[in-house]
Amino acid sequence: SASRQATGDERIRVCVRKRPLNKKEIKSGEEDIARVESTAAICVNEPKLAVDLTAYTLEHEFIFDEVFDEKGNATCFAYGQTGAGKTHTMIGSREIPGLYLLAAHDIFNLMQSGQHGSGLKLWVSFLKFIVLFDLLNRRNRLHAREDGSHRVCIAGLTETEAKDVHSLMQVLDYGHAVRSKGATGVNPDSSRSHAVLQIEVRDSNDKKLGRMSFIDLAGSERASDVTDTDKQTRMEGAEINQSLLALKECIRSIDQDSKHTPFRQSKLTHILKDSFIGDSRTCMIANISPTQSSCEHTLNTLRYADRVKEL
Ligand code: ADP
Ligand code: MG
Repeated sequence: SASRQATGDERIRVCVRKRPLNKKEIKSGEEDIARVESTAAICVNEPKLAVDLTAYTLEHEFIFDEVFDEKGNATCFAYGQTGAGKTHTMIGSREIPGLYLLAAHDIFNLMQSGQHGSGLKLWVSFLKFIVLFDLLNRRNRLHAREDGSHRVCIAGLTETEAKDVHSLMQVLDYGHAVRSKGATGVNPDSSRSHAVLQIEVRDSNDKKLGRMSFIDLAGSERASDVTDTDKQTRMEGAEINQSLLALKECIRSIDQDSKHTPFRQSKLTHILKDSFIGDSRTCMIANISPTQSSCEHTLNTLRYADRVKEL
């Protein structure tokens, strides 16, 4: 559907990551319906039935950017249905490092190169919401406020200094474990929450130089829980729906340098407002599952990602 050509200096990049079929899917005879055609194109074969009930496949082709590039504030979102690989993209495995580790290496290398001055420090925070919880302080409940100059701040959020890659990864492992484990009275299901990791580089006077934000979004299929019989699920679904719509609108309007970016339309975009403005770069990774049973969600995800990019 899209045919634009990516150039290197855009403020927004949209990438797709397809995960492989897993053992269980292979065993149950699932077919891989998503074909990566080139470094920028993906094709989804949707199974269809004609009026006379003959089966055919409808091909959907999508074109995206591919490489991730960052300068100044950088924000990276992983979007997609539950099980499509968002958290894997962020965290990775022992064999394949995720974005957290890759970024940590790059940032520390740059800091140590002396290229950007000496005495640089790195600070980390990690939180989840729709209801705000501090992942670095036993899920302490938090509240976002806007100060006099319309900057959003989260009172009481734990910020930890990390001296090297190893200590940063320890902090992240801790936060990730807190996110995935249930705690009293809190829904442990990570598919219903957005997780926001922020890494900030400060100079020797503690002045902020740049910030990278990684957002492991709630499962996009949760946005359709709005008719669920459970009230809590329904309310979360509505919030997730609202935040994913607002996110799309905000990203679209920053690329047009719009003065009217609707940051206030959701808690997600409100909290991330700072990360979008100024000299910022944004990357969205659309994670998709390869299976036929995920076809509808996969197409929704690719269409969403396509809309983010389309002007
Ligand atoms: P999500 O966070 O989107 O709900 P996960 O990241 O938890 O999904 O991925 C679901 C499962 O698929 C996990 O077991 C994960 O390790 C595996 N997985 C996801 N992406 C990949 C990939 N690119 N390669 C191999 N395994 C993957
Ligand atoms: Mg996840």
